[in-house]
Amino acid sequence: MQIRKVIVVGGGTAGWLSACHLAKKLQSHDAQGVEVCLIESAEIPTIGVGEGTVPAIRRSLEYLGISETEFVRECDVTFKQSIKFVDWVKNPVGANAGDYYHHVFDYPAITPFNLTPYWLLDYQEKMPFVDAVSIQGKLCDLGLAPKNMTHPEYQGAANYAYHLDAAKFAQLLTRHATAKLGVKHVLANVLEVKTDEQGNIASLVTDQGNYSADIYVDCTGFTSLLIGQTLGVTFMDKTHQLFADTALAVQVPYENAEAPIPCYTVATAKEAGWIWDIGLFARRGIGYVYSSAHTSHDRAEQVLRDYLGHSADGLSVRRIPMQVGYREKFWHKNCVAIGLSQGFVEPLEATGLLVYDATARMLAEQFPATKDAIEITAKKFNQRVQYAWDRVVDFVKLHYLLSRRDDNDFWLDNRKRESVPDSLLERLDFWQHAVPTDYDFSSRMEIFNLENYLYVLYGMQFPTEIESVRYRYPDLQEASQLLDLQRVKFARVASELIPHRELIKRIQRYGLQTI
Ligand code: FAD
Repeated sequence: MQIRKVIVVGGGTAGWLSACHLAKKLQSHDAQGVEVCLIESAEIPTIGVGEGTVPAIRRSLEYLGISETEFVRECDVTFKQSIKFVDWVKNPVGANAGDYYHHVFDYPAITPFNLTPYWLLDYQEKMPFVDAVSIQGKLCDLGLAPKNMTHPEYQGAANYAYHLDAAKFAQLLTRHATAKLGVKHVLANVLEVKTDEQGNIASLVTDQGNYSADIYVDCTGFTSLLIGQTLGVTFMDKTHQLFADTALAVQVPYENAEAPIPCYTVATAKEAGWIWDIGLFARRGIGYVYSSAHTSHDRAEQVLRDYLGHSADGLSVRRIPMQVGYREKFWHKNCVAIGLSQGFVEPLEATGLLVYDATARMLAEQFPATKDAIEITAKKFNQRVQYAWDRVVDFVKLHYLLSRRDDNDFWLDNRKRESVPDSLLERLDFWQHAVPTDYDFSSRMEIFNLENYLYVLYGMQFPTEIESVRYRYPDLQEASQLLDLQRVKFARVASELIPHRELIKRIQRYGLQTI
C-alpha cells in the first residue's frame, strides 16, 4: 500500500525543518506525491532556545530554497565562524584566567600535506594549532565577518554557520513551508493519540477534530507525546556520561547598539558547567549549562549573574531542565521522532539542530514508498541515528575529559574512566601514539569529523607522542613554506573583510547577490 500522507506534530524548529525536508522531497504537483501536514499547539510554547548552528545548516537552507538575505533580515542572524572555548584547559587563576582556543569551521590545511605532525614536533610552543592550519582563528580575533558583499548568498571567504533567534527562525520556516513548499498547517492541541491493534498510531484526537496519516513525525519536544508517552519507547539517559542537566537562559540587550558582535560563540567553562554567550544582531543570548548534582540552582544563578555583571540587572533568568540522552529507537512502527523528542545532550557544539536537520533530511531521502518498506527502513534509520548520537556523546565528552581543571568535583568526576564511553577511550588511547587521520572516521553519520577532533584535541593540548618516529616527517622545509603561505593568505583575506556588525547592516540594507 502506497504511503500518501505524513503528519508532523510540533511546530518548533525541529518540526518545521522536518516538514520542509519532507515537502521538498516528497510533494509533487500531481497525485503521486505525499501530503505533508504539520499540527502544532498555539498554547504550548516551543522551547525558545537553540541559537547556535554549525555550517551544515547553510547547505540545508540553500537546498530548501530559503534566501540568505531574507534569513539574515528576519531571524536576527549573525555569522558564526568558531566556538571560542575560554578557561576549559586549566583552572582560571592568575595568568591562566581567560585562556582560550578556537574550534573554527574552516577545514584545516592538512591535505595533501598534513601539517599536524610538524606542528606537534616543532611548532607547538610557538603558535596555537589553529593558527598553524587555518587563518580563521585570527579572523575571529580581529572581529571580521567571514564574507563580504561581493560573495553571493551562502558563499564566503571562510566557512561559517549562524547565530539565530530560534522563535523567529521557526516563523520563517513556517512561512516558507506553507507558502512555497505546500505544507498544510493546522493549529490544534493534540488531546489523545489513538493506536491500532498492531501498535501503530491510528489517529490524533485534537480540539479541532481528528487527523490521521500513514506516518507520524513526533516533534513535540521533551514531551515526546507520540514516541515516548504513547508508544512507550524507552529513553536512554546519558547523565552518567554527560552531567550537565539544567540550563539558565537570559536574553540581554546590548548596552551600545554599535558594539562589535563576536563572530563566534563564546563558551566559558565554570565551576559546574559552562556559559554560552551568543551575539545576535539585536541582543545577546546567554546561558549557564550545569550539573545539578554538582551545584545548587541558586549558586548557578549567582555564577551566571557574576558573568553578566550589570548588563542583566533587573532581567529574569529562565531555568530549563534538560533530558540528556536519546530514545532506544527513533523510528518505531509508523512513528519517527525528530527533535528534542528524539534525543538531546546539552548545547555544547550546537549538536541539536545539526542532528535534527540531518535526520530529517535522511527521513525525506529514504522515505518508504509503501507500508511494506517501513520496517526495514526504520531498522536502517535507527542504526544510523543511534550511531550519530553515540558519536555526539563522544565528542561532547571529549571537551570535559581533556580538561585539566580540578577546582570542582564536576571536572574531576568528568575524568573518571567509568564516565567515559569506551569508543572515546579507544580513540584517545590510539591518538596518544598516532596523529588522527581520515582512517579514524569512516562513517557518513560521524557528525563530527577529523577536523573537529583536531581543533579540540590540540586546542586542549592533547599529548600525541611522535618524537620517537620523527624520521617519518622529514619535509621540514615544506612545512615551513606552508606556514608562510598561511601568513600571506591571512593578510590577503583579512584585507578584504569588514567588521561583523557592519556586514550584517549592509546585508539588511542592500541584500546579497543571489546565485
Ligand atoms: P520545541 O521547540 O519544544 O517544540 C515542540 C513543539 O511541539 C511546539 O510547537 C509545541 O506547541 C508542540 N506540541 C507539544 N505538545 C503538543 C500537543 N499536545 N499538541 C500539539 N502540539 C504540541 N540546539 C542547537 O542546535 N544549538 C544550540 O545552541 C542549542 N542550544 C540549546 C540550549 C538549551 C538550554 C536547550 C534545552 C536546547 C538547545 N538546543 C540547541 C536544542 C534546540 O532547542 C532544539 O534544537 C530546537 O529548539 C528543537 O526543538 P523541538 O522543535 O524539538 O521542540
